Amino acid sequence: MPTEACENSEDMQVPTGWLAAGAACAAGGTFAWSAMVPSAQLFGPTIRHARDAKTIALTFDDGPNPSVTPKLLRLLEKHDARVTFFVVGKHVRAAAALATEIAARGHAIGNHTDTHPSLIFRSRQEIADQMDRCDEAIVSAIGRKPRWMRPPYGFRSPWLDRIVRKRGGAGIVMWSAMARDWKPQPAEPVIRRLRRVRGGDIVLLHDGDHRLLDGDRMHVVAALEYWLPRWQGAGFKLLSLDQGSPER
Ligand SMILES: [Zn+2]
Repeated sequence: MPTEACENSEDMQVPTGWLAAGAACAAGGTFAWSAMVPSAQLFGPTIRHARDAKTIALTFDDGPNPSVTPKLLRLLEKHDARVTFFVVGKHVRAAAALATEIAARGHAIGNHTDTHPSLIFRSRQEIADQMDRCDEAIVSAIGRKPRWMRPPYGFRSPWLDRIVRKRGGAGIVMWSAMARDWKPQPAEPVIRRLRRVRGGDIVLLHDGDHRLLDGDRMHVVAALEYWLPRWQGAGFKLLSLDQGSPER
Protein backbone atom coordinates (compact mmCIF):
# COMPACT_ATOMS: atom_id res chain seq x y z
CA MET A 1 0.00 0.00 0.00
CA PRO A 2 1.34 3.47 -0.78
CA THR A 3 3.14 5.24 2.01
CA GLU A 4 4.78 8.63 2.10
CA ALA A 5 8.16 6.95 1.42
CA CYS A 6 6.74 5.23 -1.67
CA GLU A 7 5.40 8.49 -3.01
CA ASN A 8 8.77 10.17 -2.59
CA SER A 9 10.90 7.37 -4.02
CA GLU A 10 10.72 8.79 -7.55
CA ASP A 11 13.04 11.64 -6.45
CA MET A 12 16.34 11.35 -8.38
CA GLN A 13 18.45 12.48 -5.39
CA VAL A 14 17.53 9.50 -3.25
CA PRO A 15 19.65 8.87 -0.16
CA THR A 16 20.65 5.25 0.55
CA GLY A 17 18.04 4.88 3.28
CA TRP A 18 15.34 5.87 0.83
CA LEU A 19 16.49 3.18 -1.62
CA ALA A 20 15.85 0.58 1.08
CA ALA A 21 12.50 2.21 1.78
CA GLY A 22 11.72 2.06 -1.94
CA ALA A 23 12.54 -1.66 -2.08
CA ALA A 24 10.31 -2.25 0.94
CA CYS A 25 7.52 -0.31 -0.77
CA ALA A 26 7.89 -2.36 -3.94
CA ALA A 27 7.69 -5.55 -1.88
CA GLY A 28 4.73 -4.09 -0.01
CA GLY A 29 3.05 -3.28 -3.30
CA THR A 30 3.55 -6.85 -4.51
CA PHE A 31 2.16 -8.16 -1.23
CA ALA A 32 -0.89 -5.91 -1.43
CA TRP A 33 -1.48 -6.85 -5.07
CA SER A 34 -1.16 -10.58 -4.29
CA ALA A 35 -3.44 -10.28 -1.27
CA MET A 36 -6.17 -8.07 -2.69
CA VAL A 37 -6.47 -8.42 -6.48
CA PRO A 38 -8.87 -11.22 -7.50
CA SER A 39 -6.75 -12.22 -10.53
CA ALA A 40 -3.42 -12.35 -8.61
CA GLN A 41 -1.98 -15.87 -8.34
CA LEU A 42 1.27 -15.28 -6.42
CA PHE A 43 -0.28 -16.56 -3.18
CA GLY A 44 -1.47 -19.72 -4.92
CA PRO A 45 -3.97 -20.57 -7.64
CA THR A 46 -7.57 -19.43 -7.38
CA ILE A 47 -10.68 -20.28 -9.36
CA ARG A 48 -12.04 -17.31 -11.32
CA HIS A 49 -13.99 -18.85 -14.19
CA ALA A 50 -16.89 -21.24 -14.66
CA ARG A 51 -16.31 -24.53 -16.41
CA ASP A 52 -17.09 -23.32 -19.93
CA ALA A 53 -18.19 -20.33 -21.98
CA LYS A 54 -21.81 -21.54 -21.99
CA THR A 55 -22.00 -21.35 -18.20
CA ILE A 56 -22.46 -18.43 -15.84
CA ALA A 57 -21.69 -19.22 -12.19
CA LEU A 58 -23.52 -16.83 -9.87
CA THR A 59 -22.14 -16.68 -6.33
CA PHE A 60 -23.85 -15.04 -3.33
CA ASP A 61 -21.85 -13.97 -0.28
CA ASP A 62 -22.48 -13.01 3.34
CA GLY A 63 -25.75 -14.87 4.00
CA PRO A 64 -27.87 -16.71 4.71
CA ASN A 65 -30.25 -13.78 5.13
CA PRO A 66 -33.81 -14.55 6.36
CA SER A 67 -35.22 -11.40 4.74
CA VAL A 68 -33.69 -11.91 1.27
CA THR A 69 -32.45 -15.48 0.69
CA PRO A 70 -35.95 -17.12 0.66
CA LYS A 71 -37.08 -14.72 -2.11
CA LEU A 72 -33.88 -15.37 -4.02
CA LEU A 73 -34.37 -19.15 -3.69
CA ARG A 74 -37.90 -18.89 -5.12
CA LEU A 75 -36.64 -16.80 -8.05
CA LEU A 76 -33.82 -19.26 -8.79
CA GLU A 77 -36.29 -22.16 -8.60
CA LYS A 78 -38.62 -20.42 -11.05
CA HIS A 79 -35.78 -20.25 -13.58
CA ASP A 80 -34.32 -23.66 -12.70
CA ALA A 81 -31.00 -21.98 -11.93
CA ARG A 82 -28.39 -23.41 -9.56
CA VAL A 83 -25.85 -21.16 -7.85
CA THR A 84 -23.29 -21.12 -5.04
CA PHE A 85 -23.71 -19.45 -1.63
CA PHE A 86 -20.60 -18.44 0.33
CA VAL A 87 -22.06 -18.33 3.82
CA VAL A 88 -20.84 -16.77 7.06
CA GLY A 89 -20.76 -19.26 9.98
CA LYS A 90 -22.43 -16.96 12.52
CA HIS A 91 -25.37 -16.37 10.12
CA VAL A 92 -25.67 -20.11 9.45
CA ARG A 93 -26.03 -20.74 13.20
CA ALA A 94 -28.69 -18.00 13.41
CA ALA A 95 -30.61 -19.27 10.34
CA ALA A 96 -29.73 -22.95 10.14
CA ALA A 97 -33.03 -24.02 8.54
CA LEU A 98 -32.40 -21.59 5.70
CA ALA A 99 -28.94 -23.05 5.09
CA THR A 100 -30.55 -26.50 5.03
CA GLU A 101 -33.08 -25.26 2.47
CA ILE A 102 -30.34 -23.79 0.23
CA ALA A 103 -28.67 -27.20 0.00
CA ALA A 104 -31.98 -29.07 -0.35
CA ARG A 105 -32.77 -26.97 -3.42
CA GLY A 106 -29.57 -28.13 -5.12
CA HIS A 107 -27.33 -25.12 -4.63
CA ALA A 108 -23.69 -25.37 -3.54
CA ILE A 109 -22.52 -23.95 -0.23
CA GLY A 110 -19.03 -22.58 0.38
CA ASN A 111 -17.10 -21.40 3.44
CA HIS A 112 -16.84 -17.60 3.83
CA THR A 113 -15.33 -17.79 7.38
CA ASP A 114 -17.15 -17.62 10.68
CA THR A 115 -17.25 -13.85 11.40
CA HIS A 116 -15.96 -12.34 8.12
CA PRO A 117 -12.59 -10.83 9.15
CA SER A 118 -9.94 -9.76 6.65
CA LEU A 119 -7.49 -12.69 6.59
CA ILE A 120 -4.48 -10.76 5.29
CA PHE A 121 -2.62 -10.39 8.59
CA ARG A 122 -4.22 -13.26 10.53
CA SER A 123 -2.10 -16.14 11.81
CA ARG A 124 -2.42 -19.63 10.35
CA GLN A 125 -4.23 -20.69 13.52
CA GLU A 126 -6.70 -17.82 13.36
CA ILE A 127 -7.49 -18.59 9.71
CA ALA A 128 -7.94 -22.30 10.46
CA ASP A 129 -10.22 -21.46 13.43
CA GLN A 130 -12.35 -19.17 11.26
CA MET A 131 -12.72 -21.91 8.66
CA ASP A 132 -13.35 -24.64 11.26
CA ARG A 133 -16.17 -22.79 12.97
CA CYS A 134 -17.84 -21.99 9.64
CA ASP A 135 -17.44 -25.62 8.51
CA GLU A 136 -18.99 -26.86 11.76
CA ALA A 137 -22.01 -24.58 11.32
CA ILE A 138 -22.44 -25.79 7.73
CA VAL A 139 -22.06 -29.46 8.67
CA SER A 140 -24.68 -29.18 11.39
CA ALA A 141 -27.09 -27.53 8.91
CA ILE A 142 -26.56 -29.64 5.79
CA GLY A 143 -24.68 -32.74 6.97
CA ARG A 144 -21.52 -32.31 4.91
CA LYS A 145 -18.43 -30.12 4.70
CA PRO A 146 -18.24 -27.45 2.00
CA ARG A 147 -15.75 -27.93 -0.85
CA TRP A 148 -15.25 -24.28 -1.76
CA MET A 149 -13.83 -21.30 0.10
CA ARG A 150 -13.98 -17.56 -0.57
CA PRO A 151 -12.01 -15.19 1.70
CA PRO A 152 -13.85 -12.13 3.06
CA TYR A 153 -13.35 -9.05 0.82
CA GLY A 154 -11.41 -11.39 -1.50
CA PHE A 155 -8.32 -10.69 0.64
CA ARG A 156 -5.86 -13.59 0.94
CA SER A 157 -2.85 -14.24 3.12
CA PRO A 158 0.27 -15.99 1.75
CA TRP A 159 -0.71 -19.26 3.51
CA LEU A 160 -4.43 -19.40 2.83
CA ASP A 161 -4.01 -21.64 -0.23
CA ARG A 162 -2.00 -24.20 1.75
CA ILE A 163 -4.52 -24.19 4.60
CA VAL A 164 -7.44 -24.76 2.21
CA ARG A 165 -5.64 -27.58 0.34
CA LYS A 166 -4.52 -29.25 3.58
CA ARG A 167 -8.14 -29.36 4.71
CA GLY A 168 -9.13 -31.13 1.48
CA GLY A 169 -11.03 -28.18 0.06
CA ALA A 170 -11.54 -27.98 -3.70
CA GLY A 171 -10.17 -24.46 -3.92
CA ILE A 172 -10.32 -20.75 -3.28
CA VAL A 173 -12.97 -19.13 -5.45
CA MET A 174 -12.64 -15.51 -6.54
CA TRP A 175 -14.63 -13.94 -9.39
CA SER A 176 -14.33 -12.47 -12.87
CA ALA A 177 -17.34 -10.12 -12.71
CA MET A 178 -19.08 -8.16 -9.96
CA ALA A 179 -21.94 -5.68 -9.55
CA ARG A 180 -20.84 -3.52 -6.59
CA ASP A 181 -24.03 -4.65 -4.89
CA TRP A 182 -22.81 -4.70 -1.27
CA LYS A 183 -24.70 -1.59 -0.14
CA PRO A 184 -28.45 -0.87 -0.23
CA GLN A 185 -29.26 0.85 -3.53
CA PRO A 186 -31.85 0.85 -6.32
CA ALA A 187 -31.82 -2.13 -8.67
CA GLU A 188 -30.98 -0.07 -11.78
CA PRO A 189 -27.24 0.43 -11.20
CA VAL A 190 -26.87 -3.26 -10.36
CA ILE A 191 -28.74 -4.20 -13.55
CA ARG A 192 -26.45 -1.87 -15.50
CA ARG A 193 -23.24 -3.32 -14.02
CA LEU A 194 -24.40 -6.88 -14.73
CA ARG A 195 -24.46 -6.02 -18.43
CA ARG A 196 -20.72 -6.80 -18.41
CA VAL A 197 -21.30 -10.45 -17.49
CA ARG A 198 -20.11 -12.87 -20.18
CA GLY A 199 -20.25 -16.65 -20.56
CA GLY A 200 -17.66 -18.33 -18.36
CA ASP A 201 -17.82 -15.67 -15.66
CA ILE A 202 -17.99 -16.33 -11.95
CA VAL A 203 -20.11 -13.41 -10.71
CA LEU A 204 -19.73 -11.92 -7.22
CA LEU A 205 -23.11 -10.99 -5.69
CA HIS A 206 -24.46 -10.64 -2.15
CA ASP A 207 -27.66 -12.01 -0.61
CA GLY A 208 -26.39 -11.11 2.89
CA ASP A 209 -24.62 -8.48 4.93
CA HIS A 210 -21.80 -9.79 7.08
CA ARG A 211 -22.59 -7.22 9.79
CA LEU A 212 -26.35 -7.89 9.97
CA LEU A 213 -28.43 -11.04 9.73
CA ASP A 214 -31.14 -9.32 7.70
CA GLY A 215 -29.38 -6.63 5.63
CA ASP A 216 -31.18 -5.08 2.65
CA ARG A 217 -30.16 -6.89 -0.53
CA MET A 218 -33.46 -6.75 -2.40
CA HIS A 219 -31.76 -4.76 -5.20
CA VAL A 220 -29.89 -7.99 -5.99
CA VAL A 221 -33.10 -10.02 -6.25
CA ALA A 222 -34.67 -7.31 -8.46
CA ALA A 223 -31.59 -7.20 -10.73
CA LEU A 224 -31.73 -10.97 -11.15
CA GLU A 225 -35.44 -10.86 -11.97
CA TYR A 226 -34.30 -8.76 -14.91
CA TRP A 227 -31.23 -10.76 -15.91
CA LEU A 228 -32.05 -14.45 -15.31
CA PRO A 229 -34.52 -14.76 -18.22
CA ARG A 230 -32.22 -12.74 -20.47
CA TRP A 231 -29.13 -14.85 -19.75
CA GLN A 232 -31.11 -18.04 -20.26
CA GLY A 233 -32.69 -16.64 -23.42
CA ALA A 234 -29.16 -16.05 -24.73
CA GLY A 235 -28.38 -19.76 -24.18
CA PHE A 236 -26.37 -19.62 -20.95
CA LYS A 237 -26.66 -22.29 -18.26
CA LEU A 238 -26.71 -21.10 -14.65
CA LEU A 239 -24.81 -23.72 -12.67
CA SER A 240 -23.37 -24.10 -9.20
CA LEU A 241 -19.67 -24.73 -8.68
CA ASP A 242 -20.52 -28.32 -7.74
CA GLN A 243 -21.91 -28.92 -11.23
CA GLY A 244 -18.67 -29.57 -13.09
CA SER A 245 -15.12 -28.49 -12.39
CA PRO A 246 -14.45 -24.79 -12.78
CA GLU A 247 -11.13 -23.67 -14.26
CA ARG A 248 -8.32 -22.41 -12.07
ZN1 LIG B 1 -18.18 -11.26 2.23
